[in-house]
This record gives sequence, structure tokens and C-alpha cells, in this order.
Amino acid sequence: MDSLFVRLVKMLLLEQKQGYQNRAVIGGLDKFASEWEVEAIAKARNSQQASAARDIASLLTGYPTVAQTEGRQRIVRRILENVRGVAPEVTPILEEEMPSALLPTPKLAHGAITAQPQAKSVRAMGEQPAHTAQRRPAVPSGLQEKSLPSDGFRADVTALPGVGPAKAALLAKLGVRSVADLLDLFPHRYEDYSTFKPIYKLQYGDEVSIIANVWKVSSRVTRGSRKLVVATLSDASGKMEAVWFNPYVAKQLKRGQAYVFSGKVSAFLDRLSLQNPQVERLDRELANTGRIVPVYPLTEGLSLKWLRHLTRNSVQSWAKHIPDYIPEAILDRYHLLPLPIAYRQIHWPDNNDLLQAARRRFVFNELFLLQIGVLRQRQAWRQLPGVPLAISQEQIDVFLGHLPFHLTGAQQRVLQEILVDLRGSSAMSRLLQGDVGSGKTIVAAACIWAALQHRKQSAFMAPTEILAEQHFRSLQQLFRHFRHRDGRPIQLVLLTGSLPAAEKAAVLEQLARGDIDIVVGTHALIQEGVAFHDLALIVIDEQHRFGVKQRAALRGKGNNPHLLVMSATPIPRTLALTVYGDLDISVLDELPPGRQPIQTKWLRPVDRERVYSFIRHRVEEGRQVFIIYPQIEPGKAGEEEMRSAVAAYNRLQNEIFPHFHLGLLHGKLSSAEKDQVMRAFTSGEINVLVSTSVVEVGIDVPNASVMVVESADRFGLAQLHQFRGRVGRGKYKSYCILIADPDSDSGAERLQAMENTQDGFILAEKDLSLRGPGDFLGVRQSGMPFLKMARLSDTQTLTEAREATENLLTADGDLQLPEHQALAERVQLFWQESSEFS
Ligand code: ADP
Ligand code: MG
Repeated sequence: MDSLFVRLVKMLLLEQKQGYQNRAVIGGLDKFASEWEVEAIAKARNSQQASAARDIASLLTGYPTVAQTEGRQRIVRRILENVRGVAPEVTPILEEEMPSALLPTPKLAHGAITAQPQAKSVRAMGEQPAHTAQRRPAVPSGLQEKSLPSDGFRADVTALPGVGPAKAALLAKLGVRSVADLLDLFPHRYEDYSTFKPIYKLQYGDEVSIIANVWKVSSRVTRGSRKLVVATLSDASGKMEAVWFNPYVAKQLKRGQAYVFSGKVSAFLDRLSLQNPQVERLDRELANTGRIVPVYPLTEGLSLKWLRHLTRNSVQSWAKHIPDYIPEAILDRYHLLPLPIAYRQIHWPDNNDLLQAARRRFVFNELFLLQIGVLRQRQAWRQLPGVPLAISQEQIDVFLGHLPFHLTGAQQRVLQEILVDLRGSSAMSRLLQGDVGSGKTIVAAACIWAALQHRKQSAFMAPTEILAEQHFRSLQQLFRHFRHRDGRPIQLVLLTGSLPAAEKAAVLEQLARGDIDIVVGTHALIQEGVAFHDLALIVIDEQHRFGVKQRAALRGKGNNPHLLVMSATPIPRTLALTVYGDLDISVLDELPPGRQPIQTKWLRPVDRERVYSFIRHRVEEGRQVFIIYPQIEPGKAGEEEMRSAVAAYNRLQNEIFPHFHLGLLHGKLSSAEKDQVMRAFTSGEINVLVSTSVVEVGIDVPNASVMVVESADRFGLAQLHQFRGRVGRGKYKSYCILIADPDSDSGAERLQAMENTQDGFILAEKDLSLRGPGDFLGVRQSGMPFLKMARLSDTQTLTEAREATENLLTADGDLQLPEHQALAERVQLFWQESSEFS
């Protein structure tokens, strides 16, 4: 017995042969639909079939109400296409009948790609060029194909019909200059109007398309003197109204004509209606209705409709000409869509699966190019000869013997990893990751000790003056017991932007002469005038605050020096491998003993008074407190003042804690002012520091025991964890209080996660799972290429891209083979463009 879908297809083919007269079944297609639907849903082999059955039935229900042949033809095609996607057994029948069944009739010159059968199956779509050639070019004049060579995708956008200098200037604002740029202007979201329903099945809130005839159109002026257009729509199942605040629509709609309406179902005067739906004639190509439609970033003067029209035509004409730079073997191995199909599907997806497949292809592109760059960088560093800094265990023990504590197991393990690097003939490039307080500084100091044994210079760079000073002081402490073997004292200096010119000149001279062993500083270290005598080791703290270029600049000041970068931002391993793939990674996954966990509590704003009284008690005991706010200045009137540091500072100082000394810290202060406030807090002069997130990294004030974060749901987990790391650094029991009334589930989940764990890595994983699309790990900030498509959650694709890169470089490390030329060029371009961002 034929399956239900086969029966349906046969019936539709007959209908087609008979010229769309609704005679293929007795009683008409709509009647057939209701019986067929029930049975098809009951017998569906999977949920896809069931939902397709529903869609098909609703399309059929509208069939008799559509008067024009073209409209009916459209419905039939759409159904056939749907069936093909879910019931493979119909394929042979369709293929046999396809030429007459599916090729556009002359009247339908602009046949929609949605109606093309090949759109449903990836394999068939690969054969698209032949099909496309049979159709008229999508651009009326046919201009593109004729006047531009096949590498015309490099041409200026003005080569496209309908794009003059004015539009080109607007497109340039979106970063689109060439035809290829236009293809790379990916939608930032989609509206899914691919579900068709009959009117009687509509529910409030549905995002749908309906096929309906226009019954009546009227215009009136509202009390607010806005012009309102109301149309009564009908299909076989019922009637409804659609409303627009756009008088133009009244001219567009013709009584008795069938259209596709797409939009969100809402209520108007207590009845379900469509408000401002998109409308297109059923017998025309659907670009804004009836399918998954792209939504692009816009700029003033460019309309979404216009841009859709443009991408529609350009994708049709040009996607197939963009050379695919990823070798075929890799495409096959990872089941990646060919580029032309990926372009078509990312702009004009035929269904959600194809959209996801297209997305995956572009994510892979980005991550692959990223990996190649990073891994080749790594190879390049490794090939340069380094200066070995071998050191014996006895020498290390001399240094460790002077510490007031024993190293943790993790510190010992990491130190051994590093000592092996330092002994080697190529320079070390290592990332040391360790949660706040895990004791990274000592490990760095041990490296410096190794350099000292060889009488070589070390540089230690930190992102702020306060941090640089802090490190300077602790290194002074650590090395005060030691001298060089000839009795000369070990020389340390601090080099920051605020050093007076005369002193700076003296420091620079000593550095260049080699009189200084260790220099600690800020960005000032990479300035032009800074030269070293014999720089052999670089340490960079809070490395994510620096760009790749800054790292390279400091490296350039020595003769291929060893590099140790440190970060307290926990990054899940796969991501670290990607973003810092040019580095080896060590992890300090253990805190020094005796640390008390920081008691973390999430409270609601109503509990604020209790928090204040808690703070009062701690300050009276001699402790210090941080209070963090998400904003500097108060926002609009009426917005809660408890979000702004400035407003809160005034209120807290005057009304809540008049007897305490409060300090205010935020990003609008000059660095001198910031340093002054921080110094007053470090020295204990300030009891309560009111601050924005500027306080986040590295600050070490052991006497501070309370961290309060207001509007805590406004911060990411990684950031909250950093804030918490500012307390619990001394011997006092410490607390982290998060005040928030989150308006989302994920907000609440983040706060609970903070209460439940102190482990930065667990929090990072959690953050990853809760975070939506967006800047990939803030890589933009660290000077890596900007990724448009990849998200933190794309770990699977990430792993694949990594594997592909390793295999590629093993086979052809310099990308010399002819089949890798396009790729080599593309890598170059990717990294070049990206450097504009850093
Ligand atoms: P971070 O990894 O956040 O940079 P630090 O290097 O500043 O951490 O160390 C935090 C504190 O822990 C410092 O006061 C340091 O002296 C101390 N510390 C480091 N290692 C140990 C250890 N093995 N045992 C006890 N205390 C340690
Ligand atoms: Mg540190």
C-alpha cells in the first residue's frame, strides 16, 4: 500500500496535470485535507512528519480560496517540497515527474527559490548551477551576469543593479563595500514565517503566515490623528482583520486578490488580528512572507525590504562564484556545506536544519582560519633559537627556602613544567591560568630567579599602575634576601607613565646598560624609548587586558625572550586552546591551604538595611568594605538610584555611614585620581570603597573582608567571581553579598551558582552555558580576529576546526601545496583585516 505521503503526491501531480482546477479529488482539495491530516498525524513516523502534515493540511485548506492559477501552483509546489523533506519515499515519483511538475511556467519567471525542489536536499542543491542556468537571472536586466566577470564578487557594490553612490555610501556604514562584503553581511536574526495556518487555527502570539483573500479595505484616522488601514481577510476556514499604520498599504491591497500575510497574531478590539503584517501577492516571489526571512542590521536610509531584495538577488547571482578556500577533503570529512549553498541558506534559509548547517559552515570557517593563524604563530616562535635558562633543583630550592610557606602541589607541578621550558633551546610561550589567589606571582618570581642566575634581565608587565606597584613591592620583598654571586645587590625598578621625566630618563639608561635586573611596569614598558641590555624573560599579568600586538611588542625588545603570561580569568580548556592556541597552558587548580571559603549570599533589595548594619559592624571591627555598582551616573529620572556609584556614594556618605570615611572610584576619574583613591583604601584610610567595575582585577587589600555587589544580575559570572576575589585575601573571615532582583531565570541561575561554588572553572563553564550569542569571549579585546559567527557554545565545531588545522599543518606546514593557495591567501586576509580591530 502507498504511504499517505505518496498518495498525496500522486493526487497533487494529477491536480497539476489538470491545470489546478481543484478537481483531482472528489469534494475538492480542502475536504481531502481535513481527512488526510488526521490520518497522517496518526501514522506519522516522527514529529517532523507530524508537523509537516499539519502545515500541508493548512496549505490545502486555503487552496480553493485562491483564485489564480499561479497561486495554486505555488501552494502545490510548496507542499511537494515539504513532503520531499520528510518522506524520502516520494523522491522517485517526483523525479520522474519533475520537469513538468516543478519547472516554472513562463508566467512565473521569478519563481521563488523556496519552490525549488533542490532547496530541500543538500545533495540536489549542490547541482544547482545547472538549474539556475535554466532560470532567468533574478535581476531583471540580467546585467550582473553579463557585465561582470566571474570574479566580479570583488567589484564595488555599485556594480549591482539598483545600487548607486548614495546607497553605496549607506552600505559602507554597514561595512559593505564589495559584492563579497554584501554576501558576508549575515542576518543578525530571522523571523520564521514558514508555518502556514488556516485562520480558524490562529492563536494569540503565533508567528505565522496565512494565505487569504482580501474582502474589504478601509482607511480611517485615529484619535491620535494617525492613519489606520483595516483589511478584512478570509480563507476557507474563517475571517479576520489585519491592521496597519501605513496608509500606503491601502493602495497596495486589491479586493478579491489572494496574498500571503506574515506576522505575529495579536489582539485588536478584543479579537485576534494581525498588526502590521508583511504582505506579498501570492503569485509573486515571496521575499518577506511565508518563509524564514532574514533580518539584517540596518542604518538610517536603508530599509529592510530593500536590503532583502538586494541580498536575494546578489546571493542568487554571486554565491556560486565565491571560491571555496577550504580543501574538499576537509569539507567531506566534517560534513560541511559547500560555500555557495551555505551563503544561500544563511541569507534565505529553506528550513531550520539548513540554516543551522549553514551557520556551522561559517563558524567553521572562522575557527579554522583562527586556528591556522594561531598554530602557525606557534611554529614560528618554536623555530627561533632561544636563550636557555637552565637552573638546577638546588638553585631553585635556595629561593623557595626563603618563602614563609611551602608551594602547593599545583604550584610545584607548574613550576616543573616551566623549568623544562626554560631549559629548552626554543623560547617558552606559556599561559599560566589560576584562579584568584592561587599564587601565580610566586611562580613568576621563580622564573625571574632563574633569569637572575644567568645574569639576564626580566620584565614584568601589569595592566594598571596600582597592580604594577603591588607587584613591584612583593618582588622587592621576595628578593631582598639575595645578592648576585659577586655581591652586587639585585636591582629592581618600577616604570610607569607617572614617573617624572628625569627619573624615567635615568631608568631607561640603566636598563639599556644592563644595570637593572628586574623592571616592573605598565604599558610604559612597551614604549619606543625602552631598550634592554639583555632581556631574557617576560611576565605579563592579567594578560587578557593586553592585545596580541602588545605582547609581541614587548617580546620584540629582547632576543626571543621566554614568555609567561598569567590570567585569573578561567577559560574552559577547549576555548583556551583556541584563543591562546599559540601558548602552552599550565593550570593552578589548587588554592594555598588555610583559605577560608568566602561566604556568599544573594539578597533582595528589601534586605539592604540589614546589609548596611552588617557593614557597620565589620567596619567597627576594623575591616574594610567594597560596594560595587553597575553604573557611574544615575540614568533617567525614576530609575533606581541604587545602580549608580555616584548617587549611592552621596547617599551612603551623608545618610547611612556619616561617621565612616567613604571613597569613590570609577572610570571617569583620571588615573592620578584613581590611584589616589586606591592608595587611600590600601592604607586603610578609606573604610568603604564605593566603586564601579574598575576595581575588578588583581587588587590585593588583605584587610578588606566584605564585597557587596548592587544590581548583581547586571554582571556576568566571570566578573562577579573576580569581584569576590578582592576579599578573603587576608586572615579575616570574608563575605560576598550580591543584591539583586533578577528579571530572568538565567539571572537567578547565575546568582545561585555564585552562592553554590567558589570554583572559577565551574563558574566559567556555567557562564558558557548561560551566555547567548555575542562577542566570542571578548576576543576582540585581546587583539584576536573578530568573529562574527562563532559563539562560546560552538565547542564541537571548535574541536573539529582544531583537529582539521593540526592535520593540515602536519601535511603542509607552510601551506605551500597548490591546493592550499586559496586558503593561504585567505588566512593572510583574515588576520590582516582583524588587526584593524586590535
Ligand atoms: P594570584 O594567583 O591571584 O595572583 P597571588 O600570587 O597574589 O595570587 O597570591 C595570593 C596570596 O597567596 C599572596 O599573599 C601569596 O603570598 C600567597 N601564597 C601564594 N602561594 C602560597 C602558598 N603555597 N601557601 C600559602 N600562601 C601562598
Ligand atoms: Mg595576581
